Amino acid sequence: MSKRAYNFNAGPAALPLEVLERAQAEFVDFRESGMSIMEMSHRSDIYESVHNEAQNRLLGLLGNPSGYKVLFVQGGASTQFAMIPMNFAQEGKQANYVKTGSWANKAIKEAKLLGQVHIAASTEQEQYMRVPELSELQLSEQPAYLHMTSNETIEGTQFKQFPDTGSVPLICDMSSDILSRPFDLNAFSMVYAGAQKNLGPSGVTVLLVREEIIESSPSHLPTMLRYDTHSGNNSLYNTPPSFGIYMINEVLKWIEEHGGLQGVEAMNRKKAALIYNAIDSSEGFYRGCVAAGSRSDMNVTFRLGSEELEKAFAKASEQEGFIGLKGHRSVGGMRASIYNAVPYESCKALVEFMHDFKAKNQ
Ligand SMILES: *Cc1c(COP(=O)(O)O)cnc(C)c1O
Repeated sequence: MSKRAYNFNAGPAALPLEVLERAQAEFVDFRESGMSIMEMSHRSDIYESVHNEAQNRLLGLLGNPSGYKVLFVQGGASTQFAMIPMNFAQEGKQANYVKTGSWANKAIKEAKLLGQVHIAASTEQEQYMRVPELSELQLSEQPAYLHMTSNETIEGTQFKQFPDTGSVPLICDMSSDILSRPFDLNAFSMVYAGAQKNLGPSGVTVLLVREEIIESSPSHLPTMLRYDTHSGNNSLYNTPPSFGIYMINEVLKWIEEHGGLQGVEAMNRKKAALIYNAIDSSEGFYRGCVAAGSRSDMNVTFRLGSEELEKAFAKASEQEGFIGLKGHRSVGGMRASIYNAVPYESCKALVEFMHDFKAKNQ
């Protein structure tokens, strides 16, 4: 077996070993075509079947809700920050945002360039160390939509529930926790995610959209920035990121083989609980950054007593083969990103390392 690093990278992040090995096995000659999937036409039957399989698998894992389409686009989740207001902002209506941290702020920045923005709730005053209660949400008079970030990758917070917004379209950036747990797609008009955390390699952005809201984009929008272009052409208007979509299909198979969303959720909870327990039982040597009830099962953020100690922790962890434990440069501290594909064994090894490091540095 190949030697695998204890990979806690925030994104691009760990992929399942089984998926990498399967991709390797069929890399050079895909389905007896005499070529790799990267070398074939995106109009070929073989490619199109992979493309459609990935879409169907994704909806299947979510219980096949009716009225939704899966789109594959490029430009990362960051391009969606602009495409959402471009396509859905309306004269005289306000784009509503929940201000939960770094990624929500990037979405808000784009929306402000393109129309009127209303902040429906914010935890900025508390340094984003919790997500707002649903009862704190206050929508504007005429909301065009409500945008949320289900998991703030940098701060390490995660919503455990979502609001019922009635006729107001609910749009959610799930880049860092999509398919890490079951969720009811029916509550959302649109869910989107850059693939490189929980779904596959970078270069693909997955959109789950209610068909009726993407039927017609405003006429002035450029072709590639219109949802109706991608929807009307089954995400094949231009050349799609075909290798990435193939990898997503393999990752989705892997999720199916591991008990679907319930199965991966159970694993994810176990992994997160292991690390949070190590933090909470360290008598203050490690301190969790996030309030109870808002802690992310995907990105575990914590601090040590001083920045020197944090530097020493980062260095020692690298020497022991742990990758990516340094927190985001904007917030400091430590962060263990434990997406679906990070094995329990990596988390166990991390907890043992944390224990040893504490014993040596207390
Ligand atoms: C990583 C991330 C993004 C940005 O994704 P890109 O694909 O790099 O544009 C957006 N939102 C969240 C929550 C993220 O974790």
